[in-house]
Amino acid sequence: MMAIGIAGVTGRMGKALVAAVLEQDDLRLAGGSVREGSPLAGTSIPGPDGTSTGLYALDDANALFAASDVVIDFTSPEATKNHLHLAMETGTALVLGTTGLGDDVDADILAASHKCPLLRAANFSLGVTVLMALVKRAAQALGPSFDIEILEMHHHHKVDAPSGTALALGEVAAKARGVRLSDVSDAVRDGHTGPRRADAIGFATLRGGDVAGEHSVIFAGMGERLELSHRASDRAIFARGAVTAAKWLKNQTAGLYTMSDCLGLDT
Ligand code: NAD
Repeated sequence: MMAIGIAGVTGRMGKALVAAVLEQDDLRLAGGSVREGSPLAGTSIPGPDGTSTGLYALDDANALFAASDVVIDFTSPEATKNHLHLAMETGTALVLGTTGLGDDVDADILAASHKCPLLRAANFSLGVTVLMALVKRAAQALGPSFDIEILEMHHHHKVDAPSGTALALGEVAAKARGVRLSDVSDAVRDGHTGPRRADAIGFATLRGGDVAGEHSVIFAGMGERLELSHRASDRAIFARGAVTAAKWLKNQTAGLYTMSDCLGLDT
């Protein structure tokens, strides 16, 4: 049975991942990690029904990588950096779900991808993976006369903005237009902004309540508007997608993969 380790096992996604691993007969939960010095280190990892899994959350990422065929990471950018180094040292396959990673982490991801299989996705849902492909088609078909705006809403605990998914959608739209997102991104509007830049890709961020994740990509033309939207109502979809990715990734050679690769979709 494939052994799956969960980094950040006590987090919102960590708990959903435990449930997603335990619901599959061909998977074994290898263990889970918490940040070093966490008061939750040494506590029992509960199963979805509140019963014990017989495993304890450890603040030892080395031990997690040693025990796992694949590690799934939904933690924080600092922790992800460390996990990339451990994946590189041990050759362990790593599924990367953490968002808000700075540009400096890109070099670590590239280096690690030469040594072990990595799959990175800003969003592990099937719906958003398909949305990426639709945004690419729409941006190409509608052309630059349509203004692109991306709206996202998440729960009030979320720490990064715009969301990783919103940025990934922006990247897809920019690439389809043959430009770099960093050259056209307009993520902060406040005060006297002047008229909209013609080639901008705009972002708007909403935060509140327990919203698992909502994204709309709006193509606004003269006299018409196309909106492509996705709403996640349960974070279990991200967890199940990440577990699907882990099973697929175990059989891949070293490299950097996307959810589209895993699902065989063209984005
Ligand atoms: P959370 O705050 O509930 O959980 C994060 C957990 O990581 C916390 O328990 C924290 O203690 C733990 N952690 C921090 N440093 C650690 C370390 N060094 N070792 C082990 N654990 C460590 O947050 P969340 O809602 O579960 O989200 C986590 C990340 O996943 C965020 O970046 C979020 O944006 C992202 N996310 C991605 C997707 C996706 O589909 N890619 C979906 C949902 C959330």
